[in-house]
Amino acid sequence: MKKLIIDNVSKQFGEVAALNQVHLELEEGKMLAVLGPSGCGKTTLLRAIAGFETPTTGRIIINGQTVFGPQANIKPEHRKIGYVPQHGVLFPHLSVEKNISFGLQGEAFSSKAQISKRVLEMLKLVGMTGLGQRMPHELSGGQQQRIALARALAPSPSLVLLDEPFSALDTGLRIALREEVKATLNAIGATAIMVTHDQEEALSMADLVAVMRQGECVQVSDPVSLYKYPSDIKVAKFVGDAIVLSAKVSQGTIQSCFGPLALATEGVRDSQSATIMIRPEQFVLANSDEPHFSGCVQKTIYYGHDALVHVLTSDQAGAQEIQMRISGARTFMPGERLGLKIAGPVMAYE
Ligand code: ATP
Repeated sequence: MKKLIIDNVSKQFGEVAALNQVHLELEEGKMLAVLGPSGCGKTTLLRAIAGFETPTTGRIIINGQTVFGPQANIKPEHRKIGYVPQHGVLFPHLSVEKNISFGLQGEAFSSKAQISKRVLEMLKLVGMTGLGQRMPHELSGGQQQRIALARALAPSPSLVLLDEPFSALDTGLRIALREEVKATLNAIGATAIMVTHDQEEALSMADLVAVMRQGECVQVSDPVSLYKYPSDIKVAKFVGDAIVLSAKVSQGTIQSCFGPLALATEGVRDSQSATIMIRPEQFVLANSDEPHFSGCVQKTIYYGHDALVHVLTSDQAGAQEIQMRISGARTFMPGERLGLKIAGPVMAYE
């Protein structure tokens, strides 16, 4: 059974279609990232699932139960959802323990002893055993975010919703916490949806990524497929760097300014005026005895672990300015000539 079905959900705010016939399905225990630029409808979608926003049309089904539809609109508190808002937002006047126990007054946790036991379990789960008596202002940003997660997970929700959970944190902490949160959710087999505008966050954390644009869900794929086979050029550029060129496609091969290229199976099969998309890391150094084209290094932007090398190609390639991503182990000087080839299949669009 699907844990969540969002069935053609639309939400209109006056003239603005914040959600336009969004359809998404999520399996139990999986993490879905909703990725898109500011204003594309991510938060509206999350709020509609949680019950804080009433869709204009469509159905939302959680665990086989219609929580929103023509005949249903279950209140947020009865949807069994754990919500982690954008900035953690702990109750400032309550201790860490009391923050976590806040939502545990229901039937499953009727006695004080049961509540205390659950709080201790949650503190352990998020790696904060012993800090239960602290007040929120005595915690770092990352610790506050972990307690917000513990609070959301304490009542064993059916579904966990995370709204840009790391946006307020600095880069190092954000990366560390991503892994921690993913491990915590995996440990309890939680089904989760995370909203983000950060493509790296979506690709590194999620099992499934839904890309939204102007209220529409334009692609739902696993991270690898999304990066390699984006459904259009806009998605390609949103999820990574992309070199976009004109080419012809016939009989499953791309005829490009770099010579014949392997076509990705998802690409358009035949077109006299196709657009192709190459990732910077697909440009690699060729051995002198294999087919290659040549280029001249213009400049190198060094990032440590890798470098972005700007190259002006020549030969049959004509004069194309490309950027290739290459291991930072070797340096390239302006004016250096390189023999290049393109590794892996290339996406082509009509
Ligand atoms: P961000 O990344 O900036 O948080 P978002 O993708 O979460 O953006 P939403 O907050 O869902 O986007 O907003 C989607 C659209 O709906 C926007 O055009 C926004 O202005 C509009 N909108 C959202 N809430 C309301 C509201 N309560 N009343 C009117 N318009 C709204």
